[in-house]
Amino acid sequence: MDQPEGPVIPTEEQFGIIADTVPVLVWASDPDKQYVFFNNGWLRFTGRTTAQESGNGWLNGMHPNDRQRYLDIYNSSFDTRKEFKIEYRLRRHDGAYRWVVDHGVPHYQAGGTFAGYVGSCMDIDELRQPEKIVPFDTNGALEKEQTLNEELAATNEELSAANEELASINVELQRIQKKLAASNDELEEKVALRTKALSDSEAEAQALNEELVATNEELAATNDELLNSEKNLQNTISELHAAKEQSEKNEKLFKSIALNIPKSLIIVIGKDQRFLTIEGDLMGKLGYDSKDYTGKHPAEVTPPERYEATKHLYEKVLAGEQFTVERKSETGEDFRVDFVPLKNDLGEVYAGLIIALDITDIKKAEEKSAKLAAIVESSDDTIISKTLEGIITSWNNAAERMFGYKEAEMIGQSILKLIPEDRQSEEPKILARLRTGERVEHFETKRITKGRKLLDISLTISPIKDSHGNIIGLSKIARDITEKKQDELRKNDFIGMVSHELKTPLTSLTAIIQVVNSKLKNSGDAFLSGALDKANVQVKKMGTLINGFLNMSRLESGKMLIEKKAFDMEALIGEMVQETKLTVSSHHIVFEPHQPVMVVADPDKIGSVISNLLTNAVKYSPKGKVIEIKCMVEDGEVQVGIRDEGIGIQLHDQQRLFDRYYRVESNNTQHISGFGIGLYLSAEIIQHHDGEIWVESQAGSGSTFYFSLPLTS
Ligand code: ADP
Repeated sequence: MDQPEGPVIPTEEQFGIIADTVPVLVWASDPDKQYVFFNNGWLRFTGRTTAQESGNGWLNGMHPNDRQRYLDIYNSSFDTRKEFKIEYRLRRHDGAYRWVVDHGVPHYQAGGTFAGYVGSCMDIDELRQPEKIVPFDTNGALEKEQTLNEELAATNEELSAANEELASINVELQRIQKKLAASNDELEEKVALRTKALSDSEAEAQALNEELVATNEELAATNDELLNSEKNLQNTISELHAAKEQSEKNEKLFKSIALNIPKSLIIVIGKDQRFLTIEGDLMGKLGYDSKDYTGKHPAEVTPPERYEATKHLYEKVLAGEQFTVERKSETGEDFRVDFVPLKNDLGEVYAGLIIALDITDIKKAEEKSAKLAAIVESSDDTIISKTLEGIITSWNNAAERMFGYKEAEMIGQSILKLIPEDRQSEEPKILARLRTGERVEHFETKRITKGRKLLDISLTISPIKDSHGNIIGLSKIARDITEKKQDELRKNDFIGMVSHELKTPLTSLTAIIQVVNSKLKNSGDAFLSGALDKANVQVKKMGTLINGFLNMSRLESGKMLIEKKAFDMEALIGEMVQETKLTVSSHHIVFEPHQPVMVVADPDKIGSVISNLLTNAVKYSPKGKVIEIKCMVEDGEVQVGIRDEGIGIQLHDQQRLFDRYYRVESNNTQHISGFGIGLYLSAEIIQHHDGEIWVESQAGSGSTFYFSLPLTS
C-alpha cells in the first residue's frame, strides 16, 4: 500500500514549538489583566513553573525598583489598549537580575473581541553595558533545540500510546466478531444435528435442549462483551474529541502569539520545502504579501533568484543543521534569522522552523555602544562606571594607568577599594547627591593606587539614565591633579610667608599711629588728627586683608586651628557691630540684642565671619542704607542673619559665591576692591563648626547672608 508523501504535523504542535523556540520570552494575559501564559523560554529563564508565574506571580521575579514603573505602564497601556515597550530587570534562574526589553501588544480574536495582551521580552543586559558587547548567545539555541526535541518526543509518545490503545480495541472487536460468527455457525450446525436426533430420542432431545441453553448463555455473554467493547470505544472517541477541541484552542492561542511577536516572521517548511505555516508582522517587509502560502513551494511564490539564494539554507536546515544568519534588507533594516530543524523521537527531521526577527534597533545600539566603548578606551582621562551601590562595571585603559589595577581586577569590585580610609564617608554623600539626578563637578579629593600611593584627583560624576530617565548607574571621570595641588601648596606657602612678613611692619605702623595720635590729641590741629584717623582706618583694612590671606594659607595647608569655648553669641555680635561702627559711618547698622545665646565655638573665627559679612554688606550697598543683623534660636541651633539693601546677587552667582577667589563681575562691582576670599574663608570656618552658611538675595533688592551653628557642640 502507498504511504502518504511528507510529514503529517499537527498544527497545534507547530505552534507550541514556535512559542517555545522563538529566542524571546513570551507571555500572554487575558482581558482581566491576569497573566495566563508563559512560554518555555520564559520558564527556563526564570527557572519557575507556569503555576508560580501565573496571575501576578511572575512580578516577584522583577526587580523591586522596577515594579511600580512596570505596573503603571502596563495598566495604563492595557486600559487604553496601547502597545508598550519597557525595560526592567528580571531575575534569572541563577538569581542574577538581567535587563530585558518587554514589548507588549493587545491581541484580538477573529471577531475583533479584545483577548488580552501578548508580550515578548529580550534579554538586553549586555547592551546596557557599553563596554561589554557580546554577540548573540548561540548556545541558548542549542539548549532550546534540546528542550524542543524532548517535548516533541513526549507528545509523540502520547499520540502513539493513544493509537496503540485504539488498535488494541480494534483487534479485540475483530476477535469478538470472529468468535460470534464461529459460535453462530457452530450453533446452526448443532441445531440441525439435534433436530434430526430429536426424532430419535426424547432423552437426546433433552440433552440437545440443555446444550442449546448453554450455547444461548454463551451467546449472551459474548453479546455483553461486545457491548462493553463498544462502550469503551465510545469513551475513547469522546476523549479524542475533547483533546481535539483543546488542541484547536491551543492552536488559536499559538497562532495569535506568533502573529503578535513584534517584528517577527515565523515560517515552517515541510521535508519537500513546501510552506506549512507563515505568520508574523514582517511578512510584507520580507516580501511575502498576503497570499495564502500554505502548501506552496517557495519556487512557485518567490522570484527565482530569491529562491536560488535561499535554497541552500532550506536544504541545510532540512538536513538537520541548526544555524543563524544575519541579513540586511534593501531598506537598511537588520534581521536575524534562526533555522531550526524539527525532529521526531527517532531523530529524523520532519520540518524546518525559520524565525526572522528585526534587530535593527539592537544593531544600532550595538554600533553606538561600540563607538562609545572605543572613545572611552582611547580617552586619556580615567573613566569608570559603577552601579548605584558603588560596584565597578567598567574600567578604561587610563584608569589602569592611573590606579595600577587591571580591568579584570576591578570589575565587580567596590569603588571603596580606591578610597582612602579617612575618606570613605565621602561616597554615601556623593551618592545621595547623584541619586537626585545632580551632577558632581570638579570634586577635589584623594584616591589611593594599587601601590598605596595617594593621588590628588578631581572627579566629575554624572548619573547614567535609561530611556525613561531612571538612574541606572554612574559614570566617573577622574583627573590626576597631584601636580596642580603641589603648585597650589607652594603658592599657599608663599602667600602665608608674605602675609606673615607683612604683619610685623604693619603692627609697628599701627603702634606708631596710636602713639602719634595720643601725642596730637591736645595739639588742636584738626587736620592732622583727621588724617591720622584715616590712616588708622586704612591700616586696619590692610590688617584685615593680610589676616584673610594668612588664614587662607593656613586653611589650605590644614593648619587652621579651631579653639572652641563657650561664649554668648549676642555679645559677640554686639562687639563686632561696635568695631565696624568705629570705621563705618556711611550706613545705619541696626542690632537689638535680646538675651544671651550661649554657644561652644571659636569666638575669634566666628567673629571674623560676622565682621566679613558686615563689611560686605557695607561694601555692596549704597551709602545711607540700613544693615540689620539678627540672632535667632530655632531647632537646637543659633541662626544669624545679616540683611542689606544693596545691589543683590543673581541666582547663578549665588551658587558659586563661596568658592575661592570668586567675585561677581558686573558694572556695580568692578570698582569695589576685594580678592574673593572672604566668603570662602567664612564658609570653611562655619563648616569646621558643623554649621551651614547660605544667602538669600535678588539682584537689585538686597541680600541676606545667614549662618547657623549647633547649640550643643
Ligand atoms: P570680596 O568682597 O573680597 O570680593 P568675598 O568672598 O567676601 O570677596 O565676596 C565674594 C563676592 O560676593 C564679592 O566679590 C561680591 O561680588 C559678592 N558679595 C558678597 N557679599 C555681597 C553682598 N552683601 N551683596 C552683594 N554682593 C556680595
